[in-house]
Amino acid sequence: MYIIKPAIVKPLYRMPSVKPSLLLPIFKPLTALQGVGPKYGKLLANATGDYLCDLFWHLPVDVLDRTAQPKIKDLKKFHGQTITISVFISAHQKPPRKAMPYKVIARDETGFMELVFFGGKEQFWLKSLPVAAEKIISGKVDFFRDVPQISHPDYIGNPQDLDHIKGMEPLYGLTYGVTNKFMRKAVASALRQAPDLPEWCDTEFIAARQWPKWRDALQQAHHPLSQTDLSPKTPSRMRLAYDEILSHQLALTLIRNIERQKKINRDRQPNFHLRRKLLDALPFRLTEAQKSAMGDIDADMARAVPMLRLLQGDVGSGKTIVALLAMLNAAECGKQAAIMAPTEILARQHQQTITPLAETIGLRVATLTARDKGKSKAELLRKIAAHDVDIVIGTHALLEDKIQFKNLGLVVIDEQHRFGVEQRLRLLQKGDAVDMLVMTATPIPRSLFLAIYGDLDTSRLMQKPPGRKPIATRTVSVERIDDVVAGIGRAIEERRQIYWVCPLVAESEVLDLAAAEDRYQQLHKIFKDKVGLVHGRMKALDKDKIMQSFLKNEIQILVATTVIEVGVNVPNASIMVIDHAERFGLSQLHQLRGRIGRGSVESSCILLYQSTSSAAAKARLNIMRETDDGFVIAEEDLKLRGAGEILGTRQSGLPDFKLADFSAHQDLFKTAQKDVSLILQNDPNLQSSRGKNLRLLLHLFDRNQAVDYLHSG
Ligand code: ADP
Ligand code: MG
Repeated sequence: MYIIKPAIVKPLYRMPSVKPSLLLPIFKPLTALQGVGPKYGKLLANATGDYLCDLFWHLPVDVLDRTAQPKIKDLKKFHGQTITISVFISAHQKPPRKAMPYKVIARDETGFMELVFFGGKEQFWLKSLPVAAEKIISGKVDFFRDVPQISHPDYIGNPQDLDHIKGMEPLYGLTYGVTNKFMRKAVASALRQAPDLPEWCDTEFIAARQWPKWRDALQQAHHPLSQTDLSPKTPSRMRLAYDEILSHQLALTLIRNIERQKKINRDRQPNFHLRRKLLDALPFRLTEAQKSAMGDIDADMARAVPMLRLLQGDVGSGKTIVALLAMLNAAECGKQAAIMAPTEILARQHQQTITPLAETIGLRVATLTARDKGKSKAELLRKIAAHDVDIVIGTHALLEDKIQFKNLGLVVIDEQHRFGVEQRLRLLQKGDAVDMLVMTATPIPRSLFLAIYGDLDTSRLMQKPPGRKPIATRTVSVERIDDVVAGIGRAIEERRQIYWVCPLVAESEVLDLAAAEDRYQQLHKIFKDKVGLVHGRMKALDKDKIMQSFLKNEIQILVATTVIEVGVNVPNASIMVIDHAERFGLSQLHQLRGRIGRGSVESSCILLYQSTSSAAAKARLNIMRETDDGFVIAEEDLKLRGAGEILGTRQSGLPDFKLADFSAHQDLFKTAQKDVSLILQNDPNLQSSRGKNLRLLLHLFDRNQAVDYLHSG
């Protein structure tokens, strides 16, 4: 399969075996480190991962300066700062009362100070800070009644520890039970085990960028000397990120090559007689973008290998018709085609568009969703299995084992990022070698795209069908909601229709947001039965009924959760109000807004925000006012909120990178993909000397599936 399986990136079960001997020392469990027992090993693994090399990838998130070494008399100047100081212990003072701290008095040749402890055992302080001993203390300086103090020093060491303590301390991301001191020590001792690995990158490439060698890069990245050293753009961090990206892209392409080796039966070629009929029946002409996408698809469907194409196009760009034309190709070759949508509403909508068109030209269409049961379902299944239908439209229900095709030739998957990889595979497996077209309205920035799909073939519908009016977008504080409601009243008089979108509560019931139901009640008081409500928890039939009456303009205001986010097409709806807009990702807002602006009147989108929203949140919303370009918006989202946001998280099949950053390292993804094409062109099984080093890289990042492929290939 060409789509990355999470298993490649983050396997649930990692096989420690069959690693090359060079890597064995760093694929030992954390307990192999001195001072890490079973208990702390487990706690540490929660923060990093199970193996020594996982500590390598756990880069510092901050750096603390412990270089200041003042004398006690000068501590005033260091109030609130972290220092390292050499002192002699003078005395211990038990707390005179409970709730008072335990104090240790220390001195140098310039004065006295206190080390202060709340809680803890006297025994312990006496042992670690014995009277008359010379100690190195590091921590934050405070004052109590003019006496300098350090409470709970970060470090208590002996004079010979000074060099270790006084420097710049890398600060790590920590989890329960793991202190920075412990983490730092564990990382340092793991780093001592790092072998000197042969170079897998092109040496000229490395030299031109002045990137360090792998092991040096690790050392540098773990020893930042200033804030600038934490930037993802430092040579050492770039180098490490590149290694991770390269291993990922290499694995992806290797696995994809397996798919490319499958042969598909193309004994019959389409003769386009159905296509001609359909184009005659359409009330519009295809846009240039649609024609060009069809050209790509036709070429794919003539090749000996199965088609694997992604059709990207903003909402409303007209993907459905392209999908239907592709399905006609299959039909003309005597094969069946299926289209799977993520929701009932969308499947019904495809049914409404596709069925009449397909039937006019003599094709047999069936729709199958979770709602079909009993006899009618059995009859449907029989027809699909007997090839008594040519096109099947459906939801996840298509995935059931009971559904067998006689002769499946093409699978179209709509709004693909809503489906898991598993689900896509299951549909494909209902035929031998099946063409696949996935469609998405989510503009995916290039770096993300490469990470998820590698160099998957893509067609983009950049141009929208003619006659679309621009959408005026405004941001409005929720305090002015009365104005908005008044505006809606006027719009209704003109028979216009309105979407009122509320944030989803179904996924997280604790979220205290303006639930769609509350908003519905409020609007219902004013507009009575002109208002309808749909949300994810409703029964499919009820949802449908409401959607139908909205489509027929029997209701004018549709209060909805994000169930309307993808695909729904009601051209007369020209106003959209989005409640708590600051809670949505920009890409999601863009998807939502794409529901309007489809008819002949000017459309407007009103983003209602809480007046308490941060300035950053408001600035973010302004981007929506400034652009309608889905790619620009997706890039912003990537910068501001991260990758999961764009794809709607969870099911997105998004790889989990530890070193690479989709935003800061965009260029590296492109470079790595070029690098990989060249590598595999010259050395498809990684046999050359660089190839062997690249195998090591795949092992290092645990790309087991790709390694298995190399063994079998
Ligand atoms: P999406 O890409 O969001 O799935 P649709 O396929 O639902 O978009 O198309 C949106 C609307 O545009 C539909 O009403 C469709 O009939 C219409 N449409 C598609 N192609 C064209 C075209 N070439 N000219 C005019 N309208 C078109
Ligand atoms: Mg669509």
